[in-house]
Amino acid sequence: MLDTVHSSIIQAGKKLGLTDDAINELIKIDKEHLFKINLGNDKAFNAYRVQHSNKLGPYKGGIRFHPEVDLDEVRALATLMSFKAAAVGLPLGGAKGGISADPKDLNKAELEELSRKYARELQPHIGPDKDVPAPDVNTNPEIIDWMVDEYRKLTGDITKASFTGKSVGNGGSLGRDAATGRGGMLAFAQLLKHTGQADKQLTYAIQGFGNVGSFFSVLAAKQQPKWKLVAASDSQAAVYSSTGLNAAVLDSYKRKRGRFSDFKKRGVQVITNNELLALDVDVLVLAALGDALNKSNVVNIKAKYIVELANGPTSEAAFDYLTKKGTVILPDIVANAGGVIVSYLEMLQNKAGEHWPEEKVNNELERYMVKAADALYKTTSEKNVSLKEAAFINAIKNLTK
Ligand code: GLU
Repeated sequence: MLDTVHSSIIQAGKKLGLTDDAINELIKIDKEHLFKINLGNDKAFNAYRVQHSNKLGPYKGGIRFHPEVDLDEVRALATLMSFKAAAVGLPLGGAKGGISADPKDLNKAELEELSRKYARELQPHIGPDKDVPAPDVNTNPEIIDWMVDEYRKLTGDITKASFTGKSVGNGGSLGRDAATGRGGMLAFAQLLKHTGQADKQLTYAIQGFGNVGSFFSVLAAKQQPKWKLVAASDSQAAVYSSTGLNAAVLDSYKRKRGRFSDFKKRGVQVITNNELLALDVDVLVLAALGDALNKSNVVNIKAKYIVELANGPTSEAAFDYLTKKGTVILPDIVANAGGVIVSYLEMLQNKAGEHWPEEKVNNELERYMVKAADALYKTTSEKNVSLKEAAFINAIKNLTK
């Protein structure tokens, strides 16, 4: 993924006529923090925080708990965060954290200890004006609340602006949980408006019906009646129905920890994740992990549009293949920026000691997303480049102002 991110920056930098030195400056990582977290009983994990750039504001970005987390992945994700914030006009920098642990292998007490030890180790390097971490894959408000508490104990900071994605009762923002899915839906709808497709009936499949994907579908069911959800997956299997799936039903099934492999309903088929990716749908929404589309499966993709709700879900080879074929890819750094946008709104609320109504948060999110999607479309048309190149061009313009 790191190579893909670097190529995107180099390509866009060259389009803007930047020198090699200026491009290297954009790629360069400011600081890397690597350490081991020991839980006893032979349980030790590699932990990371990579701070890519604070040119536009404090470092900002999530923390993921996943067995496949490694330094290069965290570097790539940290870099993407800087370009994401810049592409949507936020006064924030980019960072990312991770622990190479599978939370499924830990009990609650171990998960809490892991989270607190991570915050303790990082405390000197983070803070409301320095670096503000947030949730990402397999992390949630409960985990963030433990980290905030640990940070408070060590520093006495009571603003709670040291982390975002907190629970609502602990300084979190209303609308933060749905923000990434909502933002993706708004950005895609805005793109369709520009291409004159807003009134078309569309079928879509969603890879990864989790924290991000489920909100995209549930909100789309309410606000975009012309979009028909026909397939959705979890990490093991997918469900498919050509006549359409009910997002709210799938959402409550998953919230009760149901597995799609066991899902039973007349007219709904259980299929594999690879079968989902290869469906003949108009839109494929990628809301799982990085490199979901790669050299080995890209030839099967039939969708006309791809919405990258995950970070880095399309490898460079897959991106080149699809772009040549005419597939339109709404890139991650705009498509999934809703999360960090509402994180920024959470920081503003914490600093002002305010709690905004959900409607205000959602309106602000919409304003940012529509503006970013409009800017994206403008650059794509003016420069005759892909949406991804346009997103990086817009980001670089902000980063080099
Ligand atoms: N983890 C999310 C992302 O990748 C949100 C980051 C944040 O809110 O700081 O964009």
